[in-house]
Amino acid sequence: MKWFIPSLLILWALSACKPASESEASQKTASAHHKPKVYVANYPLKFFAERLGAEAIEVHFPAPSDEDPVFWQPDDATIAAFQNADLILMNGATYSKWAEKITLPESKLVDTSAGFKAQFIEIMADATHSHGPGGEHSHSGTAFTTWIDFTQAIQQLEATKTSLTKFTQNAEKNFLALQSELKALDARMVAVSQRIANAPLIASHPVYHYFARRYALNIQAVLWEPEIVPDEKAMAELKAILAKHPAKWMIWEGEPAQESVAKLEAIGVKSVTFDPCGNMPDKGDFLSVMKANVENLEKAFP
Ligand SMILES: [Zn+2]
Repeated sequence: MKWFIPSLLILWALSACKPASESEASQKTASAHHKPKVYVANYPLKFFAERLGAEAIEVHFPAPSDEDPVFWQPDDATIAAFQNADLILMNGATYSKWAEKITLPESKLVDTSAGFKAQFIEIMADATHSHGPGGEHSHSGTAFTTWIDFTQAIQQLEATKTSLTKFTQNAEKNFLALQSELKALDARMVAVSQRIANAPLIASHPVYHYFARRYALNIQAVLWEPEIVPDEKAMAELKAILAKHPAKWMIWEGEPAQESVAKLEAIGVKSVTFDPCGNMPDKGDFLSVMKANVENLEKAFP
């Protein structure tokens, strides 16, 4: 009777592989018992893919939470994981500097900003600087913070949806719900931008180009970090900008240090946070962070 146990095991293994239902099976293209693996370049795309694909897909965003996904360098195993994914969602607009030297499989690759490529903004050269473990970098070249123009976010969401429809029929329905949330945020930004009008603003970092264009904001940027208190040199540079661009507000990428807020207040500049949220937020999600951003501006410009 030695054959009995192995054949039972084989039967058990076979039944475990059986898909739960025929309709579910028909939605899966790869294998019957693994969800399609979707690798993404940044947190907004992770959020979009998860919302649209829900339980039909497995979303992977391997950049560490304390690094900027733009300048992050994945190791060989992570690059291989991207190459072997069922779908790769990239931000485009020169985001993911690591991907410039790597070949990713064309057939699985979706550049979510390709649809508005003709509207990309080119930034004039600035000094190199560093934030986090990524080393020195510059923001010259193509501006990459595409999604804080919420109309561009919607186009990236739409590209994500189109790429996911082969995995799930729910992508379209989920898309419409999220699209209306982004449209509402865009309308609120348009309203608050009309109150801001042409008032000069300072940005703590040069990541607001598309945002400034869409909402017609008059922004000049410094190269500050929310957690670093500006020294005398930084304050002098800011004052030189203010002499020609008399801003009363600085827009910060993240919650600034209290000491920074006080230093700015002493020279008549108030602080407001608009977090681009390229990486995972400490709390909440993409939508709640964007809603808080818009609310911050609405409070600053009632
Ligand atoms: Zn930077």
